[in-house]
Amino acid sequence: MKAKPFENVKNQIGFCGIWCGSCVAGNGTLRELTKRYKEIIRRYGLEEWAPKDFDFTEFMKGVTSIQAMPLCRGCLKGDGRSNCEMRTCASNKNIPECGDCDQPAACNNIELLRKMRTGARRAGLFVKTENSDRQKLIEKWTADLKTKWPYCVLFCLNSE
Ligand code: SF4
Ligand code: SF4
Repeated sequence: MKAKPFENVKNQIGFCGIWCGSCVAGNGTLRELTKRYKEIIRRYGLEEWAPKDFDFTEFMKGVTSIQAMPLCRGCLKGDGRSNCEMRTCASNKNIPECGDCDQPAACNNIELLRKMRTGARRAGLFVKTENSDRQKLIEKWTADLKTKWPYCVLFCLNSE
């Protein structure tokens, strides 16, 4: 059976600490929401009763295009930022994440690291900054996703 997008990214915490499992571009949330929205629109025949100035054909083209966007494979599989400074630096140090860095005070990427983490949190992603057990954290975060919008759409009973 083909793995669901969430399973592809679930165990990936990027070198900066961002959990790929909580990213809508990789875990399938954006695709699932778009697919369901399209289904609802069709089922309700929106084309027949949408406002006259609404270009239904163009709108559906856009929605179809979003649905077809390739899923991010996750930071540890080489996706995310191309040539990411944190990924290169932490990989060279042979550590799984910046949180394990032995010289954080001397980090040349500290501003970028802060910016990425802040931006990710603002967008609703989960970020690991403390030295805690990765697997336990992933289990806890996965449980949290099940009741958190918009991720919960991935766990609905009739999700494909
Ligand atoms: S590519 Fe860089 S910024 Fe993106 S998750 Fe990986 S380490 Fe973080
Ligand atoms: S120096 Fe900075 S980018 Fe490199 S591993 Fe340490 S915290 Fe991460």
